[in-house]
Formats: sequence, structure tokens, C-alpha cells
Amino acid sequence: MDKVVYLDNNATTQVASEVFAAMKPFLTEEYGNPSSMHTFGGKIKKNIDASRQTVCDLLSANDPSEIVFTSCGTESDNTAIMSTLRSYPEKKHIITTKVEHPAILSLCKYLENLGYRLTYLDVDEDGLLDLNELKSAIDYDTAIISIMHANNETGVIFPIEEIAEIARMRNVVFHTDAVQSVGKIPFRLNEIPIDLLSLSGHKLHAPKGVGALYVRKGTKFSPFLIGGHQELNRRGGTENVASIVGLGVAAQLAKKNFDDENTRVRKLRDKLENAIVEKIPNVRVNGNKDSRLPNTSNIGFEFIEGESILLKLDEKGVAASSGSACTSGSLMPSHVLRAMGIPFTFIQGSIRFSLSCYNREEEINYVIEQLPGIIKGLREISPFTNKKS
Ligand code: PLP
Repeated sequence: MDKVVYLDNNATTQVASEVFAAMKPFLTEEYGNPSSMHTFGGKIKKNIDASRQTVCDLLSANDPSEIVFTSCGTESDNTAIMSTLRSYPEKKHIITTKVEHPAILSLCKYLENLGYRLTYLDVDEDGLLDLNELKSAIDYDTAIISIMHANNETGVIFPIEEIAEIARMRNVVFHTDAVQSVGKIPFRLNEIPIDLLSLSGHKLHAPKGVGALYVRKGTKFSPFLIGGHQELNRRGGTENVASIVGLGVAAQLAKKNFDDENTRVRKLRDKLENAIVEKIPNVRVNGNKDSRLPNTSNIGFEFIEGESILLKLDEKGVAASSGSACTSGSLMPSHVLRAMGIPFTFIQGSIRFSLSCYNREEEINYVIEQLPGIIKGLREISPFTNKKS
């Protein structure tokens, strides 16, 4: 292969050329501040509003004013939880799951140290939730339920429609971290009673450093970044205009691409996954097969280290990841796979392949050709294999 086969799109995505082209003027000649009184700056505000509209359309939300631009998915997640806790100071209980991204889990640990009561819901071996556990966890003191839509490591999708209904029936605010699903699967926020939803630009072919928080009209809100009057008083800080414009274009492209993502990309992912399961012994697919993002495959290769597989793939020009890419550098076994109760011999050898609309069949064929030899070679020298035999 003459270029990298990039199969790490849940970590970050390539900026679409259309997105870059739309951003460029705002990094060069159109550098005004959208809050300025003069025409040079003030006219830029309409570009931010145009992006607000396309993000609103992507989510099928009711009104563009429900979209607040932020600096990333992490900020959106932090804002959702902190805003709700400030809005309901008398309530001290938070419900989340054991498999959230650190953008939620680390904040929850911090809040636990401050005296909040946390419920971390379990998942089963398929990575799925028991909604009865959620129902019985809600009480008079529950301020917010924060449950992700799609898991970044396994791609497993949680039933946020049902969760939103449960939250509404019990009068509790519901936030979902949809950073991995926005742009990959359609949303109908005009029909589903989700109160707060986080998304991040760099997961859908916009640049890093821009995100958004959807805040349903009527949801109590208190800014996380306290400062100027930007974003209708909901987020202080001069707007990252170029990136917001980029996110707006990425939202339009994602809407056009839903079919491709759910047919061609899904087929490529399935081809890769089925070939691995067929050609390589002692492997398992981690995560429910039906309720899963179309682009993600998390596969455990027994008796070898995921990091060694990644290094060998890297030598062949293939970029994939192990565990959570956002916390890579950490050699801790994945908290998601541990919560699922996956046997340790598989957890340590688990690899995530995540595709995008830019992947082509010849790239998948190339990985299918290379991988069996890599795994065989590593197993031959693995101390775990030798111990077993
Ligand atoms: N939530 C999930 C599910 C993610 O996968 C990520 C990033 O990988 C984030 C939140 C954080 O997003 P950002 O990198 O934009 O802060």
C-alpha cells in the first residue's frame, strides 16, 4: 500500500476537503470577531448561525437555538453534567454506566469525591444495559442520567429512545454522549425526549477543537464556561469561527453520507470482521453484533498483546487502535471490556478497527491478507501461548 490504511476513525477522522475549503477564508481574510459592532466582524455571525442550522438539521432538532458550540466533546459532556447539577442544587445523585468515555467517568469520579452519590450501571457480556437496573436506580435525589449513545471502543449502541422515555416518566434530566454516533446514524431529536446531547467535530470529518451541546428548549441551563455573552449567554469565549463553519459543512456532508455509512461502510466492516473470524483461530468479536455502529469492529485475539499487533500492523502501514484511543499511552486493560466480563486472555489482545467513508475495499483486502500472518507470528513467540500448550 502506498498510503496508510487508516482504520482508527473512532479516534479521529480526516478533515473533509469541502470542510477545509469552507474554513479557509475564516483563517485568512475573514478574521473579524463575530461580536464586533462593525460590519467587518459582525457579518461573520451569520456564518455561525448557518452552521447552527445545519447541525440542528443533522440532529432533526426543533430549533437551531438548541445548539451551543463548544470546544470539544469533553467540554460538551462536562457542561451537560455541571449545568444540570448547578440547576438542581438540592439533588446529589447521578446515574451513568461503567463503560462511558473518560470525559464522563473522570468527571463522575471527581464529583464523587465532592460528595455526590454515583450509580454506575453494569453491562452484560454483549456490552448491553439492563434497563430495569436503570429504573430501580432512579430516586427522588437523582439530578441527571448520563448514558452514552454508542460506545467508542466496541461501537455498541444503547437504546437512548427507551432511556429518554424512562427519564421523562421519572422527571429526570437525560444527557447522552453521542460523540461516536452523530454523523454515523440518523437522529430524530424532534421525536425523542433527550434533554442534552454531546457531539464532537473531529469524529465526523470536521477539525479537532470544536464540538456542540444540544440543549432542548425548556431544559434548565447554567453555563460551564462563565464569561462573555457568546452562544446566547450559554458559553463564554470568542467563537472558534473557522472550526464552527467546518462543523456546519461536516454536518451537511454527514447527512448526505448516511446511506454510504450504513451500506458500503457496514459491508466493508462486516467483510473484515467475517474474514478475521474465519481465517484466524481463537478470536472473538467484542460487543453485540446487531446493536452496533456500522463502522466499528472490536476483536480479541487470544494469548497475545494488542500493542504487539498494533506495532506489526503499523509496520505494514495499517493504523488501528487498542482500548480507548483517547487514553492511549495507558497500558491499563480496557475498562469497557472489563465491565463486559470478557476473559482477560482476550482483553489484552483486543484491537479496534473503525472505518469511515474514505475507506476502500482494496484497503480491507490488504488488511485481511496481512493479519493472519501477523497473528500467527506473534502467537509463535507468545509466552501466554506456550504456557497454555
Ligand atoms: N465521548 C466519546 C464517546 C468519545 O469517543 C470521545 C473521544 O474519543 C469523547 C467523548 C471526547 O471528545 P473530544 O475528543 O472531542 O473531547
